Amino acid sequence: MIYQGETLSVSYLEDGIAEINFNAPGSVNKLDRKTLENLSEAINALYQQNELKGVILTSGKSAFIVGADVTEFPDIMTQDADVLSSWLAEANVIFNRLEDIPVPTIAAITGFALGGGCECVLATDMRVADNTALVGLPETKLGIMPGWGGSVRLPRLIGADPAMDIIAGGKAKKADEALKLGIVDAVVAPETLRDAALTMLKDAIAGKLEWRARREQKKAPLKLNKIEATMSFTMAKGMVMQVAGPHYPAPITAVKCIEKAAGMSRDEALQVENKGFVALAKSDVAPALVGIFLNDQYIKGKAKQAAKEGKDTQRAAVLGAGIMGGGIAYQSALKGVPVVMKDIAQPSLDLGMNEASKLLNKQLERGKLNGLKMAKILASIQPTLHYAGIEEADVIVEAVVENPKVKAAVLAEVEERVGDDTVITSNTSTIPINLLAKSLKRPEKFCGMHFFNPVHRMPLVEIIRGEHTSEETISRVVAYAAKMGKSPIVVNDCPGFFVNRVLFPYFAGFSLLLRDGADFTKVDKVMEKKFGWPMGPAYLLDVVGIDTAHHAQAVMAEGFPERMGKDYKDAVDVMFESQRLGQKNSKGFYTYSVDRKGKPKKDLAPEVAELLAPVVSRAADFSDEDIIARTMVPMINEVVRCLEEGIIATPAEADMALVYGLGFPPFRGGVFRYLDSIGLANYVAMAEKFAHLGAVYEVPAGLRDKAAKGESYYN
Ligand code: NAD
Repeated sequence: MIYQGETLSVSYLEDGIAEINFNAPGSVNKLDRKTLENLSEAINALYQQNELKGVILTSGKSAFIVGADVTEFPDIMTQDADVLSSWLAEANVIFNRLEDIPVPTIAAITGFALGGGCECVLATDMRVADNTALVGLPETKLGIMPGWGGSVRLPRLIGADPAMDIIAGGKAKKADEALKLGIVDAVVAPETLRDAALTMLKDAIAGKLEWRARREQKKAPLKLNKIEATMSFTMAKGMVMQVAGPHYPAPITAVKCIEKAAGMSRDEALQVENKGFVALAKSDVAPALVGIFLNDQYIKGKAKQAAKEGKDTQRAAVLGAGIMGGGIAYQSALKGVPVVMKDIAQPSLDLGMNEASKLLNKQLERGKLNGLKMAKILASIQPTLHYAGIEEADVIVEAVVENPKVKAAVLAEVEERVGDDTVITSNTSTIPINLLAKSLKRPEKFCGMHFFNPVHRMPLVEIIRGEHTSEETISRVVAYAAKMGKSPIVVNDCPGFFVNRVLFPYFAGFSLLLRDGADFTKVDKVMEKKFGWPMGPAYLLDVVGIDTAHHAQAVMAEGFPERMGKDYKDAVDVMFESQRLGQKNSKGFYTYSVDRKGKPKKDLAPEVAELLAPVVSRAADFSDEDIIARTMVPMINEVVRCLEEGIIATPAEADMALVYGLGFPPFRGGVFRYLDSIGLANYVAMAEKFAHLGAVYEVPAGLRDKAAKGESYYN
C-alpha cells in the first residue's frame, strides 16, 4: 500500500504499476474537498516512488466519478473572487501533477465520468472506457464552466469544434461516441475493462505506445491556423448565442475562454479558464442554476422517501378522457403503470387514444422506443365507457369537466365501486379539495393531483393535501407522480392551490397595467426578452384559454376578495365577452394560424386595441422596469404569503413549483432566489412604489421583517 485515504487508496499491482482506486464511503465517488485532498496526498506519495513505472486510475463503484460535489458549491460560490480563484488553482496543481508524473498514466472508466470526473481523466495520458461509460462536461448547465482544466485539455485532445460543442452544450457522450471523438482510446466490455487498461498501460511502459507525445499535445497551444481559428470561434460564438440566449452567460464565456487561450500553453490557458470560472460563479445566474439543481435533488429525495413509506401504485384509472385525462393516461402507461381510462363519450375516448398513439409515434420516430414496446404501452391503456376494471386501480385520477356538481357526483359514484384502500384524487384546477372531499365517505383517502398542460411535457404535479387527507395517501400519490416521471410538490388546500394562486395576481398586475394604458405587446416583449418568461402575460392568457382564465379569476376573487376582487372591467372580461378565447378558437389577444409545420403561429390582431379602448384610460408608456415590477410584485407577494401561511413548505419547493409549473426563468432560480439576489430591502422599496395600486402590491409582514433584519430566504 502506497497511500490510504478516506476516499481513495494507492497500491502497487505488479511491475511498478500503481493503482489509484477511488472508493469513497457512500454510493458514489465525487470530487469533493475530501477526495481532492486525498488525491493530492496520493499523488505526492507517488512522486516519492522510485520504482514507479505507470499509474492506473480505477473506481471501486459502478461509476468512476460523478462530478464535483454540487452541495459544496453554494458555500464555495459565496467566497470572495480571490478565494475562489485560489481554490481552483489548488485543484489544478493536483491535476497538473497527475498529468506531469514522469510515467505513463491511464484511466479505466466505468459509468459516469462527468464534470470534475471527466476533468480528472483528461489529465491522464490514455483513457479506456467500458460500454456503460458516460463522459462529459455539464458545468455550463449550472451557469459555470469547467474550472479544473476541462476547457483547456478537451479542445487540445479532440479539437476545438467538438470540445466547444460539448462544453457550451453541457453535453455528455456515451462510450461509443466518446471513442469516435477521441475522448477515450478504447471501449471494452465491463468485465475486461481493468485488463484492457492494464495491457494498454504496459504497452506504453514498454514504449509500444507513444504516451509522451499525447501528453505534450494537451500542454501545447491548440493546433489551429489563423483562418481555421477565426472560422471556428466565430461560428461557435454565433451558434452559442443563438441557442443559449443573453440570459445564460456560461456557454459563451466558455467559448471565449477557449478562444482566448487557443495560442497558449497549458499553464497560461488554465489562468484564462480560472478567470472565466470566477466571473461566472460570482454572477447571479450560477447560484440560481445551482440552486435549481439542488432543489430538484431535494424534491427527488422527498419523493424517494414517499416511495419508501407509501404503497406502490401498480394500476391506475383516469376518469375523463379529455385534454388532461388523455395526457395523464398516456404518461402513466408510458412509465409502466397500466391505466383504465373512463369517459361518458366514445368520441372523447377515441380522441384520448389517438393523442396517446400520436405521442408514442413521435417517440418511435426518434428511436426512443420500438414498435413492440409502443404496442405494449398502448395496450396498457384500457378505454371504457363503464366502470369495469376500476376496482383494481390503486390510484384514481378524476379529470372530468371543471364543474363542482359533476365532480362531486363522479367522485361519490366511483368511491362506491372501489375498495377501502384505493386512493382517489382530483385534477381540478380551481375547486377546493376540502369542498370535493365532502362528497366522499373516505376523505382521508382523497387529495388533489394537479397536472399541468400538456401533461407529457410539464414536469410539475401539485399534490394538494385536504384537511382530512392522510399522510399515507399523500405518500402514495407523491410516489405515483414520481413513478410517472414527474416532480411532485405537496401543498395545502386553498383557492388556486399554489401555482394558480400566485399566477392570478400576476395577471391582475397585467390587467392594471393595461387599464392604465400599457400596450400589451410591449408588456409581453419585456416579460419575455427582459425578464425571461417563455411567454408574456397576454400570450400566456391566450394559451391558458381566456374562458378558463376568466373563470379562475372569479374563483380567486371569491377566495381572496381583499386582494383579488376588482371593481372594474378588465381586458380579460372584454376578451371573454367578445368570445376571443385565445389559441383554442384562434383569436384572443393575438390571432393564431397554423404554420407549414403544423405549429400554431401567433400574429398581431389590430382589432384588439379597438376592443380594449373602453377599458383603457389613455395610452401611456411604461419603462421596462415598471412593467416588470407591476406584474411581478403581485406574484412575488403571493408566493411569499403562501410560504408564510404554510400553503407551501419551503422556499425550495416554491421555487421549483414556479420553474416546473409556470416556466419561471431558470436563470433567476425562482421567486425566493430572485428576492435574495436583488436583496429583500431593495424589493420592499420597489414594491412600495406601487402600493397605491391596490392590496396585491402590499408586501407581506414576514418579508418586511426579514428585510428589516437583513435576512435572506436561502442560507
Ligand atoms: P376536457 O373538457 O378536455 O375533458 C373533460 C372530459 O371529461 C371530457 O372528455 C368529457 O366527456 C369527460 N366527462 C364529463 N363528464 C364525465 C363523467 N361523468 N365521467 C367521465 N368522463 C366525463 O377538460 P380538460 O381540459 O381535460 O380538464 C379536465 C380537468 O382538468 C378539469 O377539472 C380542469 O380544470 C383540469 N385541468 C385542466 C387543465 C387544462 O389546461 N386543460 C390544466 C390543469 C387541470
